[in-house]
Amino acid sequence: MNRILVVEDSKTLAKLIAKKISSELSFDVDVAYTLSEAKLFLHKYKYFIVLSDLNLPDAPNGEVIDYLLEKKNHVIVLSSNVDKDFREKMLKKNIIDYVTKSGIDDINYILQTVRRLYKNQKHKILVVDDSMVFRKQMQGMLENLFFKVISVAHGEEALGMLKTYPDISLVLTDYNMPVMDGLELTREIRKTHNKNDLSIIALSSNTDDQATALFLKYGANDYIKKPFSKEEFSCRINNAIEALENIHFITNHANRDFLTGLYNRRYFFSNMESYFSDAVENNESFAIAMVDIDNFKKINDTYGHDTGDKVIVAISEIIRTNTNKDDIVARFEGEEFCIILKNISSQNAFTAMERLRNSVKKHLILSDEGEEIRFTISIGLSINHEDTLENDVSAADLLLYNAKQGGKNQVISN
Ligand code: GH3
Ligand code: MG
Ligand code: MG
Repeated sequence: MNRILVVEDSKTLAKLIAKKISSELSFDVDVAYTLSEAKLFLHKYKYFIVLSDLNLPDAPNGEVIDYLLEKKNHVIVLSSNVDKDFREKMLKKNIIDYVTKSGIDDINYILQTVRRLYKNQKHKILVVDDSMVFRKQMQGMLENLFFKVISVAHGEEALGMLKTYPDISLVLTDYNMPVMDGLELTREIRKTHNKNDLSIIALSSNTDDQATALFLKYGANDYIKKPFSKEEFSCRINNAIEALENIHFITNHANRDFLTGLYNRRYFFSNMESYFSDAVENNESFAIAMVDIDNFKKINDTYGHDTGDKVIVAISEIIRTNTNKDDIVARFEGEEFCIILKNISSQNAFTAMERLRNSVKKHLILSDEGEEIRFTISIGLSINHEDTLENDVSAADLLLYNAKQGGKNQVISN
């Protein structure tokens, strides 16, 4: 449902908004200049968002907004009326936002809002409040912002939900609740979930001055004082979610190789040491493989660096499809990869690497000029482990060297 309806009688403005949205957000956009045209479109399509002007030639007093809300649309109101009371009155309706439309900054704000709402669909929020009325109200507001919402009446239930749904992004908790209050809940959650993985926002009333400070000390990311405006609520929730996304983005970039999306060497050595020692201690059977492309320099020299990159990407994908979900695949440098095959017998590890070698051998890619390019890999496989991860990787590297000396396109294990 990547479709947006713009209802606006100023043709210049409507066209400008539509053009910006379709070029920058890749949504399909329809434009209606009157209420009756809007009705025709709404009959035909379902819309992700409707951006609507208040006053139209055939609906001069804002009738379009009530019509859109009655038909269960998500509505952002575009208005040139900056009167404070009027704005407040509009925000009381179930609209997402009220935006003035005086210039390009406002259009950019609309784009940013739509982008945010689109991403919100991926996030689950857990609402914890003993008052059913309040729970329902918050659920409604969050669903209007496109979040997936789970709501529960008390702290214990909340902890259970976090176990059932490990992908919850944010917990919105009330302070005063029977048995376990919001503070205790925050403390409990922080024993297992840190601030960078799960955001907590606390709700407290104006009289609980101490509570807000304690919430922050116990690990809440933010708090909202009751009573609050819908705008403050949306902004704080959206900010918290955005901060979480930014942290994930940065962490992911620090850990991954830019070209292939595989883990990088830094991640490999800083995170796999503990796996290695646990596996050795528990006598788990696993294997470490070093993989290197054969005569890769020649591919670069013959077809160019960009085609060389294509080969690296193709091989990284073949490695991914030939390994298990829990295995660790890293690109160490250039055309060299390291794999940890977890929980696998020596025999199966060898078979898996032979299968990988064959898959690469059978694969072909086309150069820019349409020539067929084939390539092979050599693999050193360490099954009898050394005392440290680093030594084990060196052992696999030595086996790889033997494979190269032995004529390439082969797997050698110890
Ligand atoms: P062998 O079969 O012995 O492994 O020989 P080789 O030519 O594959 O290995 P060598 O180590 O001599 O050359 C690797 C080349 O990989 C040299 C370097 O320019 C190139 N290279 C390193 N990183 C990248 C990269 O990110 N992209 C591309 N296209 N080439 C890279
Ligand atoms: Mg090579
Ligand atoms: Mg090399």
